[in-house]
Amino acid sequence: MEAGSGSPALPGGEAHAGLEEEYALEAFDHREGYCRKLGHYVRFSYCRRRPEDFGPPRGEAAPLPCGRVADCWFERLPVEAYLRSNYSAEELKMILAPPPAKLDSILEILARLKAEAGS
Ligand code: SF4
Repeated sequence: MEAGSGSPALPGGEAHAGLEEEYALEAFDHREGYCRKLGHYVRFSYCRRRPEDFGPPRGEAAPLPCGRVADCWFERLPVEAYLRSNYSAEELKMILAPPPAKLDSILEILARLKAEAGS
């Protein structure tokens, strides 16, 4: 199985056909797909709960899924309806926000190290 490309647009209030379906958080945990990021197959359960990699902690709530979840799974799962069933509009924006550019990340790390060295 190969992950797809060209994810559907999610946040916002646009009308989407077939999105009235509700899905439990664990509904697709057993499904497997090839992860281009990791280079091997993973279960959907992996994609939806990697707090250390994929999102800030949400207290008692489930962690946010990988930011690529819509792009990787939209051809094989009703991933848009799934995400809408389990995450708020605000969470969807966080999940689907583009990752920071590498240079931005490096500059952020340098600024943090500099601040730590100064304190
Ligand atoms: S959603 Fe993330 S972890 Fe899952 S297959 Fe895609 S890139 Fe890999």
